[in-house]
Amino acid sequence: MKQLQTFQVLPNIPKPLLFLETLSTNIWWSWQYDAVDLFRRIDPRRWNECHRNPILFLNHIPQARLKELAEDHSYLSHVKRVQEMYDMLPCRQMSDYNNLFHQQGTIAYFSMEFGIHESIPLFAGGLGILAGDHLKAASDMSLPLVGVGLLYRQGYFRQFMDQDGWQQEEYPETDIYQLPIEKAVDYQGEDIVVSIDGPFGKIYAAVWRLNVGCVPLYLLDTNLSENSREIREITAQLYIGDQRMRISQEMVLGIGGMRALEALGIHPSVCHMNEGHSAFSSLERLAQIIKTHKVDLKTALEIVPRTTIFTTHTPVAAGNEEFPADLIKPYLIPLEQSLGTTADEMISWGQPLGASPESPVSMFVFGAKMAQYCNGVSKLHGEVARRMWTHVWPERPEHEIPITHVTNGVHIPSFLSQENALLFERYIGTEWQKHPSKSENSQSIDNIYDEELWRAHTMSRSRLIRVCRKLMVKQYQRRNAPKDIMKNAELVLDQDVLTIAFARRFATYKRANLLLNEPDRFEAILSSNNNPVQFVFAGKAHPRDHEGKELIKRLIHFARKTNVRHRMIFLEDYDIYIARHLVQGADVWLNTPRRPFEACGTSGMKAAINGVLNVSILDGWWCEGYSEDRGWSIGNGEEYSDSVYQDSVESRALYNLLENEVIPRFYDRKTGDVPVRWVKMMKESMKMGMRIFCSHRMVAEYNERFYTPATNHLHNLLVDDARESRELALKHERYKNFWKDVKIEQPELQVKGPFKVGDTFQASTIVNLGELRPDEVEVELYFGVLKSVDTLPPGQAQHMQMLEAHGNGQYLYSCNVKCRYSGRYGFTARVVPRGDYKTRFEPGLITWS
Ligand SMILES: *Cc1c(COP(=O)(O)O)cnc(C)c1O
Repeated sequence: MKQLQTFQVLPNIPKPLLFLETLSTNIWWSWQYDAVDLFRRIDPRRWNECHRNPILFLNHIPQARLKELAEDHSYLSHVKRVQEMYDMLPCRQMSDYNNLFHQQGTIAYFSMEFGIHESIPLFAGGLGILAGDHLKAASDMSLPLVGVGLLYRQGYFRQFMDQDGWQQEEYPETDIYQLPIEKAVDYQGEDIVVSIDGPFGKIYAAVWRLNVGCVPLYLLDTNLSENSREIREITAQLYIGDQRMRISQEMVLGIGGMRALEALGIHPSVCHMNEGHSAFSSLERLAQIIKTHKVDLKTALEIVPRTTIFTTHTPVAAGNEEFPADLIKPYLIPLEQSLGTTADEMISWGQPLGASPESPVSMFVFGAKMAQYCNGVSKLHGEVARRMWTHVWPERPEHEIPITHVTNGVHIPSFLSQENALLFERYIGTEWQKHPSKSENSQSIDNIYDEELWRAHTMSRSRLIRVCRKLMVKQYQRRNAPKDIMKNAELVLDQDVLTIAFARRFATYKRANLLLNEPDRFEAILSSNNNPVQFVFAGKAHPRDHEGKELIKRLIHFARKTNVRHRMIFLEDYDIYIARHLVQGADVWLNTPRRPFEACGTSGMKAAINGVLNVSILDGWWCEGYSEDRGWSIGNGEEYSDSVYQDSVESRALYNLLENEVIPRFYDRKTGDVPVRWVKMMKESMKMGMRIFCSHRMVAEYNERFYTPATNHLHNLLVDDARESRELALKHERYKNFWKDVKIEQPELQVKGPFKVGDTFQASTIVNLGELRPDEVEVELYFGVLKSVDTLPPGQAQHMQMLEAHGNGQYLYSCNVKCRYSGRYGFTARVVPRGDYKTRFEPGLITWS
């Protein structure tokens, strides 16, 4: 085909309404109900038909309607109100706001997916929504943060079912002219195109900008005529199976992303790699630092990890990405020159210490090597990650593995129902959005009258039921279902019935069919006529996950039974739109993962802030959220080795909970038509969500614990011609060369004990440091309560002092230990490097007696 020239016809928006066009290009509108309504009220039906995409929507409004609105005073005053709010955004107030991103202190946040709104299909699931919420909260908090991702032409698949309930996948093309994006331009106003040397030739990528409030999200796109067909496909679909394609995607995201920022004049102080997919960004960052600051690779390797954050999300070893070394090598060879090293060395950065050069490259190991700040996404996940990755820091006791946690949070304005948002405005004040986690805010929730909260929730439930019916009709229409089935679909579910939602990816560990473990018992619950219950299921299985698809099929078949089909449905094509209605309108949010495989989970948080009560296994975030005054736990956090047995125990626990506690409490209306005890739990749930599980708390935590110290550190690392970094590199080199000679003898106690609480004793040991000096190391007595004779107990380390130099690198060290608690202790001693966190936790640099 010939190369086509293009032209586009834009809607002719009357002058008084021009703000609508501006508004449509900043997704900020999506978390301001007043702004959403500005579009919606033009034509509510068409708004939904256009999938709440304002650009598409404005294209479909007849000119006559626009003209009418331009003369409608109430509409124009609504426009004015929203415009005033929009103009209050810091990036609208400060003409040089964009310059913020060119100064020191910019944080670059890399993610393979971003879930921002249903009209922007650049995500697959929770990881993406989390990334979207991170950007939104950063915008609300005026943090100088930029997002970096990929612009998928097809995104993740759309789900629909065949007659038999078997999942089918569709990859419709996204019309990028209907996305709120624009080409990113450099300082001369030229479109930015970056290039990456791939094994099959140059990969060119265009760079787009999407405005998330004040935060720019830069998206790379390889669908350019300069590229071959295969290369254009790199940014076609999210999470495709082919490993070469995956590596190419991650190269475009990481290397291309850093190059795009450079072309924009943005030199991030801090990089945040959301999951291992974006870890290649640190390779390009090394190259940029080598070039800009005229340092060698060793020095750059002291700078990059000290200013990088790496968040891991997967508590299953198999879920962490690995690539065969020989597959990845051709992608690294083009980087050899700018980094001044070999592809083989780069490969070794992704292999645990001591692994053979042929062993696979782990994106976790690579990420952890490049980031001193490494975290899991809930308290429990932090523990699981430390256990899972002990082999990366050999000889470290598990509790010292340098992985911490920052529990996820959700962007409340994006998921709070409109009814609840009104209540918040009335009872908390219009400013609540700015600091949702402030404790005064959450306390005010107690002031809401029970009746008002219940009414608001009932409204949300009605809306959910309406949406379910509409979607069910659509599902059946697509399948050409007979008339009587269509009729049933129009009337499925009830407005006033206890509604339980289960919506998430259909990964097997999430056990979507735990309720089917004893089908008769589930059927009895569903078909009961006093105290009725209804269930809404939704979720996608990964295209290659046959087991997951099997789960969906079983549910769909079960839901066809005559006596349950009025009360149980499966909604196809779970997305943010469905999620929003479910987390607002359901009464109970059900979650049944196999502990500890749910790293965090965020949908339950979205439910909680809306007063939807969680019934969940104690896994992920719920371990931190659960208390009996705001929800229910299935079991007590047990872990099992026999999964069949586990399913039978936990499904029974779930049936019992539903029958004996959840259902009776919902229908306990002794004091009128409001379930008072239930509403009390709703309020506790909302308070918890606002205080702890909101994205503002999460982003503030990343900022205080990681971004700010890393930014400050970068400054120190670079001043004086990067003096500190160069010194660190020299020091590191000495450790590398001389650590093998470090020896330490068993420590001895001056008196043998037993001791009484309050006693003090002295311990001492002989250390041989070889070429290293005492000021370069830390000698520590390590002791803890014994569990068995031959394993190192989780214990504490106490600093030992150098008392005498014996010559030839030999020293006597000693310390006084105070006996604080009674018990049987084991003790030993060790040598570690002296220095900052990064220095101390360098894998391999630890010697025990
Ligand atoms: C919140 C959300 C998720 C993540 O929920 P989990 O609890 O982690 O399963 C996935 N998909 C959509 C559409 C969401 O809104």
